Amino acid sequence: MSRSSQHAEKHLVDRIGWMRAAVLGANDGIISTASLIVGVAAAAANQNAVLIAGIAGLVAGAMAMAAGEYVSVSSQSDTERADLALERKELRDNPAFELDELAEIYVKRGVDKATARKVARQLMAKNALGAHARDELGISKITTARPVQAALTSAASFSVGAAMPLLMVVVSPAYALVPIVFAASSGFLALLGAIGARTGGADILRATVRVTFWGALAMALTAGIGKLVGIVV
Ligand SMILES: [Zn+2]
Repeated sequence: MSRSSQHAEKHLVDRIGWMRAAVLGANDGIISTASLIVGVAAAAANQNAVLIAGIAGLVAGAMAMAAGEYVSVSSQSDTERADLALERKELRDNPAFELDELAEIYVKRGVDKATARKVARQLMAKNALGAHARDELGISKITTARPVQAALTSAASFSVGAAMPLLMVVVSPAYALVPIVFAASSGFLALLGAIGARTGGADILRATVRVTFWGALAMALTAGIGKLVGIVV
């Protein structure tokens, strides 16, 4: 493999990580806010009430995404840190055992014993903790957790997604609010699904149909429940 293609691959991995998080956040924003809007509108609320509910949904959703992401990535980060601290201690206290351990990992991957020992020795001479983190614990630079960054990314992408159906509420005439929000949000979801699939190298049609179907189902269910509650209340 040539140098330049290796370089391109590494960047693709980086981009999938970021794009994936952003696309998922925006997806959540569209689906939950559009469902909320359609549900409240179906309960025969006026346009102002629908808009207020939608904005509240955007803020609440963005906060929930940020908090959830922060907690989950922090705990992953704590686990990684604890693992690295333990590994550092083991490397200091028992380097011979650690060399055997690393060589054994390479043997299990199909490297012959002599070569595995040689590779392990050379890698540990350069950066023992790095070699153990990567090959024993599976912690690489890419997977190293960054909680604040993850929280901000999810909150921002959720807000961008949520803004799309909200914008539709503002520009739609009151009598056509539900069908316009429904159709436009399905369109946004399809577009995002296509972008996500393209970035990740997945089948574009299948990904687009999947995300649009589940989004439309969520909106339809919420609209149905809104309608029922609207009749009862
Ligand atoms: Zn180790």
